[in-house]
Amino acid sequence: MSKEAVSGNSPFTIHHSPFESPPEFVEVALPLPMRQTFTYRLPFGLRDSVKIGARLLVPFGKRQITGYAVALHTKLSEEIEIEESAIKEAAELIDEEPLITEEILKLTQWTADYYASSWGEVLKAALPAGINAASEQIISITSNGRDEIIKIASANTIKTQVLRHLAVVGETTARELANKFGTTQAQRAVRELVKTGWAGTFHRTLTAQVKPKRRKAVRLLPPENHDEIGKPISDAQRKIIETLIESGGEMLFTELIEKTDVGASSIQTLAKRGILEVFVQEVLRDPLSDAKLPDLTDLVLTGEQTKVLAEIENALDLEKYKTFLLHGVTGSGKTEIYIRAMKNALGKNKSSLMLVPEIALTPVFSRRLRAVFGGEVAILHSNLSTGERFDEWRRIRKGDAHIVIGTRSAVFAPLQNIGLIIVDEEHDGSYRQHESPFYHGRDVAIVRASYANAVAVLGSATPALESFHNSHTGKYEYVQLENRVGNRPMARAEIVDMRDVFKAFGKDTSFSPALVEAIEETHGRGEQSIILLNRRGFSQFVLCRSCGEAIRCNNCDITLTFHKREGKLVCHYCNHREKTPRSCPQCKSQYLFFVGEGTEQIEDVLKRKFSNLRIVRVDRDTTSKRKELENILEKFSDGEIDMLVGTQMLAKGHDFPNVTLVGVISVDAGLALPDFRSAERTFQLLTQVAGRAGRGSLQGRVLIQTYHPEHYALLHACAQDYDSFYAEEIEFRRKLSYPPFVALASILIKHINYNYAFDNAQILKDCLNAADSGKNCRILGVAPAPLSRLKGEYRLQILVKARNRAKLRETLDFALHDAQEKFCDLKIVYVEIDPVNLL
Ligand code: ADP
Ligand code: ZN
Ligand code: ZN
Repeated sequence: MSKEAVSGNSPFTIHHSPFESPPEFVEVALPLPMRQTFTYRLPFGLRDSVKIGARLLVPFGKRQITGYAVALHTKLSEEIEIEESAIKEAAELIDEEPLITEEILKLTQWTADYYASSWGEVLKAALPAGINAASEQIISITSNGRDEIIKIASANTIKTQVLRHLAVVGETTARELANKFGTTQAQRAVRELVKTGWAGTFHRTLTAQVKPKRRKAVRLLPPENHDEIGKPISDAQRKIIETLIESGGEMLFTELIEKTDVGASSIQTLAKRGILEVFVQEVLRDPLSDAKLPDLTDLVLTGEQTKVLAEIENALDLEKYKTFLLHGVTGSGKTEIYIRAMKNALGKNKSSLMLVPEIALTPVFSRRLRAVFGGEVAILHSNLSTGERFDEWRRIRKGDAHIVIGTRSAVFAPLQNIGLIIVDEEHDGSYRQHESPFYHGRDVAIVRASYANAVAVLGSATPALESFHNSHTGKYEYVQLENRVGNRPMARAEIVDMRDVFKAFGKDTSFSPALVEAIEETHGRGEQSIILLNRRGFSQFVLCRSCGEAIRCNNCDITLTFHKREGKLVCHYCNHREKTPRSCPQCKSQYLFFVGEGTEQIEDVLKRKFSNLRIVRVDRDTTSKRKELENILEKFSDGEIDMLVGTQMLAKGHDFPNVTLVGVISVDAGLALPDFRSAERTFQLLTQVAGRAGRGSLQGRVLIQTYHPEHYALLHACAQDYDSFYAEEIEFRRKLSYPPFVALASILIKHINYNYAFDNAQILKDCLNAADSGKNCRILGVAPAPLSRLKGEYRLQILVKARNRAKLRETLDFALHDAQEKFCDLKIVYVEIDPVNLL
């Protein structure tokens, strides 16, 4: 713990004490990986002006950093163990009006608490990027200050020295003054100068920071402002006035010149005569400014849609918290329900928040929403430019937009009076933030809904196992769309047994004759195809080509990962190790092979095999830019590309009516990932991808190549049978104690020095064992994390399975506290509660 700032009382408690006298201390959450808040003294000038939710600049170590005021105290809490005199003073108030609303403060506090992460980091993540940039304090002399210089000619205090210095340089940074006059002295002098109105302070950001975008604009003034009434007006001037009237009396300077084709001087002349006024106006950057909006056709809802919508609308009427799980097959018309529910909420003066997964989904949805709701819609997508996001965020904060569509972090959008929260594709892994601060967008959304007495709707064709489970236990209300709109047929899904293909050819083939034939047929008919690869695997594992079995850990039933250097198979859950066998433990065959195909190779093979087709590869490598991906998808939609090859990002939400074939090259790598969710993920992926084929009137076909054709995830996905999949999967989870039957935490310990990481991990592990005196937890590890070395750091993992959440938190809190006392370096420890992805 740092000395200058004092640790807060129990972390994350807001004290809403009603005070008669202004607060003397402020509790600040800092965007650092620390699970505590810090107390600072408020200088006199700030005591009346600081509000909870505002940003402050505070000293921390040798730096000044931006923190968030989360509580104000009139006196120090008794739990604080440090001398009052050791408490440092907050340097500067950044926001007169707090950026963070009370609701968001509460929600971020819950998030930090629940996920054992830093409140300040969550708050930082909740604000648009540019706002959070580091800033420095600038001090400038005022004209009053300049007048004063003469009067104080003989005085020689620090204050007057600073003023004279300012008179010479005009403005300077707080840092420079501190260097020149000493930190405390300079601060005091500046405070006094500001109080007397001789100097002013403001903040300038050090890194690239977004600012409101400003443009020169022109507007007509009312007649009483006009000078020299009746004086003749030139043709050019008349044109200007008429153009302005046509545009409602106001327009951008450049636009006016463009339209009228007159010189800027004519405008200036009119301005001098008081007929119009040139001013600086803020223009908002609009991410959809040049988007093609879709035509709106008024659909008649199907019977199923009507029923589901009615249930949601009833819940909206009650203004009480409720969560629906909307389980609707792909193409069943969930989007239409979302839109109508948002309309309903808007009619009740309630705002709506809609979360969508990362990647390409947002443009499609947002254009649709913009077409329906116009300026009421704001977009908070991770792919927007910083400026766009900043402007959209401010529109929401000001209450100018009542519908927000966005990805994960939009769950913290500062909407007021929220009535409806929709989480589309709620099973999607991208709702989980995989770095600090960890949180799950869907789960935070539900908490937000419950705080706001709002209705939450989780939509999916393949609900997350936990969500479906929650709908059984009554936590969520289950509503269903069983049929596709217009009774369009579901795609026909077939499994291609690659063991047979291997037997027939006796060598490696990525493409079965069945798939090759299907590709030829599809394109022969002028239709399109999507070829899907498993996720880009970094980890190699061993697969038997005869029986299709991947070699798994006896304790965990998780695929063992091949470690080339040691020549061993390692379980990344329990650290079990074994020598790589020469033959398959199941069937004794010798045909073991190491899986890990790259996407580029597949693309090359396809291009060689089908040289007449226009084939484009899409994955995170090729499409790091938003525009690029949108471009490719648009070309595909327009028929300028015949085939897309890519990873699972192609499986989501796109609607290409002419795609009638989806080929899945190898599903096994996904099934065999060292993660207990691998079967669920594979099932979801295949179901989603089957939903891509045959969106139009044509019947679609899905071919799934696998060495493991009996796997229940594949069989049930082919049959489009969610219920049967759930029944088997939930049994697996129950038997092997995985969520939702246990509460899970994964603890990652990472450091460039292996021994250092290991020693700290071992201390923590001992503390965990000691903390779990009631034996409510199973503590697994210390084992190498699935990514055992990343960016030069060694990564170790401890897995904690607990009977329930409360026990998990209790054990963790106790152990972390204990570990700190035992000098465990908690800076290298990352705790993830409810990890979604153990990779
Ligand atoms: P989902 O999100 O459930 O996969 P969508 O909402 O994308 O399904 O709907 C699939 C298609 O059906 C879309 O093209 C949509 O415009 C259309 N659609 C939705 N509802 C209706 C309806 N009531 N009548 C006709 N077409 C509809
Ligand atoms: Zn075998
Ligand atoms: Zn194991």
